[in-house]
Amino acid sequence: MNDDIDLKQYIDNIPDFPKPGILFYDISSLMRNADAWQLATSRMAHAVMPWQPDQLAAIESRGFLTAAPLATRLGCGIIMLRKPGKLPGETVSLSYDLEYGSDSLHIQAEAIKPGQRVVVTDDLLATGGTLAASIALLRKAGANVVGASVMIELAGLRGRDKIDVPLHALLTYK
Ligand code: IMP
Repeated sequence: MNDDIDLKQYIDNIPDFPKPGILFYDISSLMRNADAWQLATSRMAHAVMPWQPDQLAAIESRGFLTAAPLATRLGCGIIMLRKPGKLPGETVSLSYDLEYGSDSLHIQAEAIKPGQRVVVTDDLLATGGTLAASIALLRKAGANVVGASVMIELAGLRGRDKIDVPLHALLTYK
């Protein structure tokens, strides 16, 4: 593995997606390159390791992709935070506001043992609404949220200000 890879060169910046005026940062192009993906996920795992999580909480859907390699490297489990109607059995849920309207995330009620150390992960932090809601949901389900890990942070949107646990971002954009 080449450790000198500039990972940002593998993140495609796509204007006007999913709607006009939005610049979309796409990890698909990073994932297609085996060396770059290995390096990115091993660096994320390295940053998360000191938090000693019991579980990684993965935010639907691209958070599933960051969680899986991290959990394998760290030797911990994975919990899915999902949109409504996707998880079987009893769930705990939390609604949160979006720019237009609202959304909700669910977790299986039995997913977390009280006080378990949980690190939550996603591909990207923008306004921070999704990550903040995920942390609130995990706490509602009994977790001790000890950190958050994202591949990309859009620092100009100040999402970090909404996050009250240690936050690691692999790549930061203004
Ligand atoms: P936030 O709630 O505004 O922080 O938005 C973060 C959520 O929206 C994450 O779950 C991301 O996957 C998704 N998201 C927002 N902007 C982008 C982007 O540019 N690329 C990929 N995902 C994005």
